[in-house]
Amino acid sequence: MHIANSSNERYCLLCNKRIDEDFELSNFIQEERLCTQCRSQLKGEKRVFVKDGKKWIIYHEYNDFIERLLFRYKEQRDVAISPIFLSPYKNELKALSKKYAIVILCSSNEKRQFRAFEPLIEWFTSIHVEVYSPFYKSMDWKQSSLSFEKRKGISMVLKKKELYNLPKRKILLFDDVITSGATMNRALELMPGEVIVAFAAHPSWIQKMKPYEKSCEKM
Ligand SMILES: [Zn+2]
Repeated sequence: MHIANSSNERYCLLCNKRIDEDFELSNFIQEERLCTQCRSQLKGEKRVFVKDGKKWIIYHEYNDFIERLLFRYKEQRDVAISPIFLSPYKNELKALSKKYAIVILCSSNEKRQFRAFEPLIEWFTSIHVEVYSPFYKSMDWKQSSLSFEKRKGISMVLKKKELYNLPKRKILLFDDVITSGATMNRALELMPGEVIVAFAAHPSWIQKMKPYEKSCEKM
């Protein structure tokens, strides 16, 4: 909890504007950490797709704002902004974590050592939801600079740790961004999950999945 004092003064973690200036009750309940203006730059509403019996939940459509946000967070290591990513979905993810073991995709070992933190673990720690990290990458692939075609090559480097205990629950796979979907498809080969959740997905991926879109019904 980062509520500053007893008068519930809170400040946007991105721009430092007082959140209670445009205070909404629902924001308070969800422990919102962004002002309305910053939050509005996160494009898109939650969307659900069902394909081949698997449910894909996408919170945002990837855009320049999210790109800058992730750069600031991951590459500039602004860990203080961790709570902004998942705080609006805290209750939903908490409920999902009771039914599913939430498994996160990982950074490469090289990046992990350089950053000295695992970004997605920080996201979930900030909302007090337990996650599991059974994957590793054996080579550092600069995915973002590769073409869609070459990104499919990631299947050679995402691997599963041999000795890793997971609880006996169904699997939910989580990643920050789905670009081509190749990394997630590889993860699904290694560990069949029933539900996939991503903070954001690229517009082209969303376009491709449109025929499988469902209304956001109760889970
Ligand atoms: Zn703000």
